[in-house]
Amino acid sequence: MQTKHEPQRDYEWVEGWGMAVGSQARVLRPRSVEEVAGAFAAARDAGVSLALRGSGCSYGDASTNSRGWVLDLTRMNRILGFDTDTGVANLEGGTTIGQLWRHSLPHGYWPKVVSGTMFPTMGGAAGMNIHGKNNYRVGTIGDCIREIDVLSPDGELRTASRESACDLFHAAIGGFGMLGVITRVEIETKRVHSGEIEVTGVSCHDLGEMMERMDARTADRDYLVGWIDCFAGEDGLGRGLIHEARYLEPGEDPEPERTCLIEHQELPANIMGVVPKSQVWRALRLLNNDLGMRLLNTAKQLAGRVEGMQGPYRQSHAGFNFLLDYVPDWKWAYGRHERRGLIQFQSFVPHATACETFEEILRRCQRAGIVSYLGVIKRHRPDPFWLTHSVDGWSLALDFKITPENRTELLAHCAELTDLVIAAGGKHYFAKDYSMRTGDAARFLPEERIDAFVALKRTLDPDGLLQTDLARRVFGDRLV
Ligand SMILES: Cc1cc2nc3c(=O)[nH]c(=O)nc-3n(C[C@H](O)[C@H](O)[C@H](O)COP(=O)(O)OP(=O)(O)OC[C@H]3O[C@@H](n4cnc5c(N)ncnc54)[C@H](O)[C@@H]3O)c2cc1C
Repeated sequence: MQTKHEPQRDYEWVEGWGMAVGSQARVLRPRSVEEVAGAFAAARDAGVSLALRGSGCSYGDASTNSRGWVLDLTRMNRILGFDTDTGVANLEGGTTIGQLWRHSLPHGYWPKVVSGTMFPTMGGAAGMNIHGKNNYRVGTIGDCIREIDVLSPDGELRTASRESACDLFHAAIGGFGMLGVITRVEIETKRVHSGEIEVTGVSCHDLGEMMERMDARTADRDYLVGWIDCFAGEDGLGRGLIHEARYLEPGEDPEPERTCLIEHQELPANIMGVVPKSQVWRALRLLNNDLGMRLLNTAKQLAGRVEGMQGPYRQSHAGFNFLLDYVPDWKWAYGRHERRGLIQFQSFVPHATACETFEEILRRCQRAGIVSYLGVIKRHRPDPFWLTHSVDGWSLALDFKITPENRTELLAHCAELTDLVIAAGGKHYFAKDYSMRTGDAARFLPEERIDAFVALKRTLDPDGLLQTDLARRVFGDRLV
């Protein structure tokens, strides 16, 4: 097995965000469409495959390649244009969500869809068709994209939209980097009348109450997300805290020019004015065990009750959406040595079966003694992209600590949960996955969609140049 420190000239360690998987790989960093074409040619000449990679924020092996090279697209990160009348942005594929909001907010626009972190690139976000805490309301990022440019290994640069090359548009968005490099994205943003939103915390006794409450708010809340204490036993199974949020109407913020400034969005460097944020992961590391996390979750549940009694408060867009970025490198609390880290198990289940399925998942985790340290629930809606993970239903995201000692048992546990999810009509999400077995995706994605995707790949990438560890793990040899 390769190790992080193995010396290899020109090669570097490339790992999934959760640190559970990685390998040495040669990394190419193109700055232009021409250089991407050059990288395709170089890989072809060398007889190796190429994995496309943005910021590497996918938790598992979606942008690693233990059997070839990696094409890091983060240097293609120019903002090509921004229309201040419409809020439509024209961006190179390596532009990050953070760059976009920093550019758009001073003009009074916020990205329509963002993930829980601002580091992903447009190409990576489109490649996974990411969703935010408002998926039930505005759809995925693909729903906000008007047009993409895709450079495929066949050498052609194609522009795709809903009107033209619409198969490519609907397949490349969510196509996990298998069809070509998304070199440009034209995307809509939302007009906002303040740099803040109004947030309300609602404490819930169990999962049923949480889902009922969230469902009742979908019509009049712009964002909904639920945090779950996965340690709570049967009488409080799935208890936790909902955060509901709404955009402010014109006039509600007396100083929108000030609140839309970048300085107003940036999170403070110190926690409670004293502890430097950069050191917080060290304290979290001390708690990163079952007992510590049980205590932390209980404390959070109690704090949530207090928050629930306080009523609405205002928070900056960045503070609300990118809470996870508030503590830099928090993932290191899970371990920084080889193959230690975290994996996420995010399942998407239709409305009718979601509550009982998630309750069963929580119960099985407790019975197995493999309890998630962080549980998050969101409401979703379907979308038209070929390999979409979304459903008219709900997702439950569970973070599990992974170590060399528990790896086999944990992955077997996740495989069992996957069977449960698929039996309930559910799906999984490639951006978060590290446990699906070969063939699992074919059990929840329509066969005709997979066939059409494979056929398109054969046309655009006839030599199977674009590969990742995830593509080989989940689809076997169908995409190579
Ligand atoms: C803390 C945290 C919170 C998150 N929260 C959310 C969330 O709320 N919602 C959500 O949906 N996701 C979430 N994610 C997942 C993240 O948004 C996705 O994994 C996203 O795809 C990462 O983008 P990236 O630029 O890092 O791409 P990578 O992870 O590097 O790559 C993602 C995929 O896109 C492909 N790819 C990369 N660049 C291109 C390109 N230019 N053209 C074509 N294909 C390309 C890769 O081959 C790979 O298959 C979160 C991740 C983290 C770490």
